[in-house]
Amino acid sequence: MAYTVRDLVNYLETVAPPSYQESYDNAQLITGNPNAAVSSVLCTLDATEEVVAEAVRLGCNVIVAHHPIVFKGLKSLTGKNYVERTVIAAIKHDIAIYAIHTNLDHVRHGVNKKIADKIGLSHTRILQPKKQILSKLTTFVPHEHADAVLSALFDAGAGKIGEYAGCSFLATGTGTYTASAAANPHLGVREKPHREPETRIEVLLPSYLERKVLAALRKAHPYEEVAYFLHQLENENQEVGAGMVGELPEAMEERSFLLHLKKAMELQVIKHTALTGKPIKKVAVCGGAGIFLLSAAKSAGADIFITADIKYHEFFDAENQLIVCDIGHYESEIFTKELLKELLSQNFPNIALYLSKVVTNPITYL
Ligand SMILES: [Zn+2]
Ligand SMILES: [Zn+2]
Repeated sequence: MAYTVRDLVNYLETVAPPSYQESYDNAQLITGNPNAAVSSVLCTLDATEEVVAEAVRLGCNVIVAHHPIVFKGLKSLTGKNYVERTVIAAIKHDIAIYAIHTNLDHVRHGVNKKIADKIGLSHTRILQPKKQILSKLTTFVPHEHADAVLSALFDAGAGKIGEYAGCSFLATGTGTYTASAAANPHLGVREKPHREPETRIEVLLPSYLERKVLAALRKAHPYEEVAYFLHQLENENQEVGAGMVGELPEAMEERSFLLHLKKAMELQVIKHTALTGKPIKKVAVCGGAGIFLLSAAKSAGADIFITADIKYHEFFDAENQLIVCDIGHYESEIFTKELLKELLSQNFPNIALYLSKVVTNPITYL
């Protein structure tokens, strides 16, 4: 069976919903026809001109990249810089470029989980969970329809909390209504006050699924007019947010840990603050520029915080409470291409998937 670019995008968007990206981001299909059939896919950290050329050589008509090649609106396309040249090359060769960026940074099995796995961390959790991305739906259903409505809500993605599915709260009570002369009530008669024993259903859902869950509710509910309340919650969503913290199986001496880190992440250089003299057990990580999470790493009790793009003055903020490491932006996220390949292979076992061999790091070390 031939898959389209849209099939690929739809799947990746279930893994990392686009609504979880930062406001400045541009995680989406950047070039290409969503209806085109996928030949094979090249997974990469950056989609540069060299990577497009690599895709052409390999016969791949889709590039899945972590970093979007286009961030801002392009007002002309003349090839005056590398961004425009990359886009032109992709369009000329009918190559779709899909970027899955900060949305993949923010999910539990995303960029930071890959780093945690490389370092060997367990008991991982999101370092700074996002708020205001969960909603609560309350609705009222005649008893005999309650199970059908509940399973429709679950099928649409409601009722998941961490490793638990099918979560809801059910209570019974009495619903009251008076149908107008023009109404077509499922239960009761027109223009007569009616009382109906009903089940009150309460479920949590990710806010981005609101439309889908409400459509499922309306479809499964027997009433002409479905009564429901939808609330945005302040709760953190433990499954979504920035950075990750986890534990090493055994505490390690600081220098041994840094050498382990260097090997595991294939680093040439680690820039780090002074050693604290304490063993390393709890490790916080954030691929890319993550120093904004320093206080979250401290509050989590991390012994070391590994990220990239740290400025001189920001190193001072370690305050000897933990070690802060800059391992380089490229180095911190390069294994994201492996993650992309793994994710795609789980759902598209018959599509040929390649890892880019182009070193797109603009920084070299002497
Ligand atoms: Zn990232
Ligand atoms: Zn990045």
